[in-house]
Amino acid sequence: MSTPSPFADLGLSPELLAALSELGYEAPSPIQSACIPLLLAGHDLLGQAQTGTGKTAAFALPILQRIDIKKRLPQALILAPTRELAIQVAEAFQSHARHLPGFHVAPIYGGQGMGLQLKQLGRGVHVVIGTPGRVMDHIERKSLDLSRLTTLVLDEADEMLRMGFIDDVEWILQHVPATRQTALFSATMPEPIRRVAQRYLRDPQEVKIKSTTATVTAIRQRYWQVSGLHKLDALTRILEVEDTLDAAIIFVRTKTATVELAEKLEARGYGAAALNGDMNQVLRERTIEQLKNGGIDIVVATDVAARGIDVPRISHVINYDIPNDTEAYVHRIGRTGRAGRQGNAILFVAPREVSSLRAIERATRQPIEPLVLPSKQAVADRRVAQFKEQIMQVIESEELDYFGEVVNELAEEAADTDIHEIAAALAFLVQQERPLRADGLSDVAPRDAGASRGRDHDARDRRPDGSSQTYRIDVGRAHGVAPGDIVGALANEAGLSNRAIGRITLFDDYSTVELPGDLSKETLNALTFLRVRQRPLKLTPMTHRDRQGKRDAAGAKKTYERKKGKK
Ligand code: ADP
Ligand code: MG
Repeated sequence: MSTPSPFADLGLSPELLAALSELGYEAPSPIQSACIPLLLAGHDLLGQAQTGTGKTAAFALPILQRIDIKKRLPQALILAPTRELAIQVAEAFQSHARHLPGFHVAPIYGGQGMGLQLKQLGRGVHVVIGTPGRVMDHIERKSLDLSRLTTLVLDEADEMLRMGFIDDVEWILQHVPATRQTALFSATMPEPIRRVAQRYLRDPQEVKIKSTTATVTAIRQRYWQVSGLHKLDALTRILEVEDTLDAAIIFVRTKTATVELAEKLEARGYGAAALNGDMNQVLRERTIEQLKNGGIDIVVATDVAARGIDVPRISHVINYDIPNDTEAYVHRIGRTGRAGRQGNAILFVAPREVSSLRAIERATRQPIEPLVLPSKQAVADRRVAQFKEQIMQVIESEELDYFGEVVNELAEEAADTDIHEIAAALAFLVQQERPLRADGLSDVAPRDAGASRGRDHDARDRRPDGSSQTYRIDVGRAHGVAPGDIVGALANEAGLSNRAIGRITLFDDYSTVELPGDLSKETLNALTFLRVRQRPLKLTPMTHRDRQGKRDAAGAKKTYERKKGKK
């Protein structure tokens, strides 16, 4: 990448700038802008900023820049409160140091056998990240040589205090070279932490970032446990009743899924567009511009394509597919709650993803509340309220004389009818596309939900009674397919319209797909020869019994899970 990085202004080396650009960091966060130059200049530092503001890179980058790779002795020690945080910080060092060959970092924490840690330390490392108790152990055993230490960081100091480590921390501070640089980072600054700072930091520079700029804390986080409804139906219900909804960004896992979901939302009357890495820069920028100026309200994006988007009117981030890792989650939800506004993040969690949810909570140290899906009644109530509002607006702003006369005429012609009934009949007519009654709302697959647009187009693939047939296809998870691959093949190669493709269910070595019951011979022919991931699909219709049996068999094999591949 050749465009100068805003990180360059902070005085960081080309190796680090390259790593940051590869990680997708576009610009330094406020705590990073403030701390990096101070730490590079050798100052002690007291840094205060909320969780999720990028404190790790604020100290890791200057440490990496100042390290002497040739000296294989610990030059920096970072104390962290928990094993998870120690590992996270070690991973951050590792990824920022990807262009510093020969760099070594070791996390050391309790609960892990000494053996591996002793081996790592013995091999020679440049940076050690440890929990206080274990670091003390190593100092006492003399397996951690801190004679060359130049920088010591107390990360998440308030958390270390809360967990009762403060005495250990002081002990460690007394056992490291006095000439070191010391930095203390904390989300809050309670009195005991201040005292430690006064005692052990030399003339520290203070950096305090107000919490309104924190990414995570200005965001209300909720999750919906996927059950009962299709995700798409859950999504549209949420979109309909969220009070503060202005614009939303919806994250899915694949490029194909961005297009598919955007189309489905459009079919339901939402101004939605896809945003993915297949689109060229101009198109991507145009889409984001449209989102900014209200031309569209929803963007369905992949992680990569959405990185760094800064559109203040994004009130909601919806994780339709759960992210691969915690870091991606933090990136995603950071798209909302910008410019001091309140943001909302909603995460869809399938039953087997519950452990990922817990990992996200632990890593961000923010609870994620369960979201109760709005009931059909709530959706209907909301529609009724909007309907009333709409009518009042029309009464206020439109010239209605002519229409009033039409109504009067009707009332006179139909003897037993009063104006009331006529109005009710009109209300009935108006709501057919978007039902006002709870029992008029459907929770079945989108194609059958009576979406207003595109119905004629739909008819070409469907029987008048809309019956569908489930087909078995010969590719499954084990072959590495995603639903998007199957949709792509059916749509692009067999020419099926998107709406004709129903529910797709992946099993280990085969999948099922719902298609219209009355496909033409030519289409069926084309489908028989279709290949996905180099495998012939061998499309065969399934009987009801088939399906029961397969489902049970698949249930028994449920332990099989796709490995989550990192991007
Ligand atoms: P803190 O320690 O303040 O809680 P972290 O250092 O853990 O925050 O950073 C939170 C997240 O933000 C991490 O996923 C990190 O990769 C990401 N991040 C940090 N700095 C930047 C940046 N400049 N641009 C984009 N993402 C960043
Ligand atoms: Mg941190």
